[in-house]
Amino acid sequence: YTGKTTMQAIGESIKNKRVKDYKSVPILVKENTSVYDAICTMFLEDVGTLFVVNEQNDLVGVVSRKDLLRSAIGKQNLEDVPVSIIMTRMPNIILTYPDETLHEAASKLIRYQIDALPVVRPKQGKDGSQTETKYEIIGRITKTTITRAYVDLGNEEL
Ligand code: ADP
Repeated sequence: YTGKTTMQAIGESIKNKRVKDYKSVPILVKENTSVYDAICTMFLEDVGTLFVVNEQNDLVGVVSRKDLLRSAIGKQNLEDVPVSIIMTRMPNIILTYPDETLHEAASKLIRYQIDALPVVRPKQGKDGSQTETKYEIIGRITKTTITRAYVDLGNEEL
């Protein structure tokens, strides 16, 4: 026995869990998608958060269940309203990265009181320089992801 305490072992195990090892598949919609179609996509894909992309597949926004509910209690025809009108948009989106720890991602969910984070990779500008960084979405971290990691942790032999 190495003399490692149980607390140290748990701490190490938490810090070894990375976003890239736990991320799930992101569900994307284009910015001209109607609120009506976004609601359908949310049901069909069984997710609570959609990520919105432009024609170049850059991340431009996030749409949550309550964003859709809010627009659904308004008077507009949901087929005529694009998600780009109601989404939370860049640069106000909280991001996570493949090499971040799951603990850092979980801390962001708590700090910003949100359910999901897009896992992103910055896109390089043509000459390496860029005014506003563009991001490709390569995954999704949600509260369910964190719950799954918690269960894994409980099942690990320390
Ligand atoms: P819900 O609104 O269904 O409870 P959230 O708590 O995730 O779901 O969303 C709360 C608000 O935060 C919504 O307006 C949503 O657009 C926004 N939001 C969700 N995820 C993010 C994120 N990763 N970065 C910034 N804003 C987000």
